[in-house]
Amino acid sequence: MALMINDECSSCGACEAECPNTAISEGEDHYRINPDLCTECVGFFAEPQCTSVCPTDSIIPDPARTEDKDALLAKFKKIHPDKEPVLS
Ligand code: SF4
Ligand code: SF4
Repeated sequence: MALMINDECSSCGACEAECPNTAISEGEDHYRINPDLCTECVGFFAEPQCTSVCPTDSIIPDPARTEDKDALLAKFKKIHPDKEPVLS
């Protein structure tokens, strides 16, 4: 499933540069994740990269976007049609 950023975000900006899909951007109140671009890092890394750098643990699964690994891989292929996924 895609991840989301909750209200605990301190807008430090650390997560933005970690995202291989440029899914993270600064929002009005706090940083946000575009669920159409978040693959949980499937296709690039074995684990989500943004969560490990977040000092406030405010990046969590988005219950409105439950997607299994196949769906996340399909999303990766849609975003990066010319790129071979790193399978883990
Ligand atoms: S889990 Fe990966 S793809 Fe999703 S927002 Fe975080 S860094 Fe980006
Ligand atoms: S790393 Fe965490 S606290 Fe910093 S901007 Fe991203 S979600 Fe917010």
